[in-house]
Amino acid sequence: MKIAFFDAKSYDKPSFEKYGGEKGITFKYFETKLTEDTAELTQGFDGVCVFVNDTVNAAVIDHLADHGIKLIALRCAGFNNVDLRRAQEKGIRVVRVPAYSPYAVAEHAIAMLLTSIRRIHKAYIRTKDFNFSLNGLTGFDLHGKTVGVIGTGKIGRVFIDICRGFGMKVIAYDKYPAEGAGITYVTPDRLFAESDVISLHCPLTDETYHMINAETIAMMKKGVALINTSRGALIDAEALLEGIKSRKIGAACLDVYEEESDFFFEDYSGHIVEDDTLARLISMPNVIVTSHQAFLTEEALDNIAETTVHNVAEILTLGTCANEIVSVG
Ligand code: NAD
Repeated sequence: MKIAFFDAKSYDKPSFEKYGGEKGITFKYFETKLTEDTAELTQGFDGVCVFVNDTVNAAVIDHLADHGIKLIALRCAGFNNVDLRRAQEKGIRVVRVPAYSPYAVAEHAIAMLLTSIRRIHKAYIRTKDFNFSLNGLTGFDLHGKTVGVIGTGKIGRVFIDICRGFGMKVIAYDKYPAEGAGITYVTPDRLFAESDVISLHCPLTDETYHMINAETIAMMKKGVALINTSRGALIDAEALLEGIKSRKIGAACLDVYEEESDFFFEDYSGHIVEDDTLARLISMPNVIVTSHQAFLTEEALDNIAETTVHNVAEILTLGTCANEIVSVG
């Protein structure tokens, strides 16, 4: 079985080689993302392995089908970048890794929050320069504060447990609340109005697109800290920028950004970044951006490779897989 592996990074290969070798699956690693232009590279393969910023729209799927591709193996949980309906129409199966380490993402969300509100990013640079002044580094206690969690699935619940460890009051909103999980669910409006910290852990769908916008930001407490480790398009970045400029948003911790596919995972340090909104956000002292890094732990990489290889082997040999995603409607 030959799989074309797109958007390959050096940290992907060891675990995919290990698990692929065990199951007789050969990966050919392409550094480029899958797009309409690069879909030609899939000639002669049985399937493709893609990540969060590969383009798997209808046009790309048509190319894949023309090349006899039978399988799209996502090595991530979210699948908002795949046109599932078109894949189904073309008889291409789609599998994903529904869980690989909710701890990796939840812990990264907390790392960003603590870094931001305790000004660790500023302190690190100061002490490197032997500047031991504390001026401007005043933070606030998390203990006793209210955190609003949107999406109480695997990652959201680990995040909630960590917040409880800090002595925070947790409120949550989920379209499908988890019965008996001991979580206090409130309406989105109440969550926006009462939370000192808001963390997003729901998927990107038509319904959640730009759920953080000018209107919802207006409902929030002044100085709220906003964390997004989910998907960039949950937040209207222009509205966020306005919220920061008006001092309504006290801190923004962004591991994802709506237009991230043009920049994230690549080194643009020697370039002029064309995205003014991203550049302005990064320039703010109370904004921390990481480059879709929340998943990146040794444990997660190992689990991603093991599950992806297992998914590929199941679909291509047995024809079924519990991690298959099917289009609804
Ligand atoms: P999950 O499926 O376990 O949980 C998602 C939760 O969101 C569910 O409880 C679901 O009911 C809820 N939900 C669905 N629609 C909703 C809506 N309209 N409003 C509110 N809640 C809604 O998923 P998970 O494993 O916890 O992952 C959450 C998200 O994290 C993923 O969708 C993915 O986008 C993102 N993610 C990011 C990274 C990263 O590296 N930054 C890594 C993994 C996952």
